[in-house]
Amino acid sequence: MASPASLGFTHRENRDGTIDSVCRRCYVTVCTSSWEADLESAEKDHACDPALLERWSRLADRKSISGPEQP
Ligand SMILES: [Zn+2]
Repeated sequence: MASPASLGFTHRENRDGTIDSVCRRCYVTVCTSSWEADLESAEKDHACDPALLERWSRLADRKSISGPEQP
């Protein structure tokens, strides 16, 4: 029963039985709840922080530049 909106989120179960919903793009925990409906509504309302996305993409760029380009 995966809705398209939930595809961008990872669900992680906590020891206390609640579930963290973590955005796969900006890695922010958008909601912690034991109710699937709460997670879904938080996921629908979530908008990634552009500043965070930029930060992650900059980090990814830095990692991908592994070969030395020096003369
Ligand atoms: Zn996000």
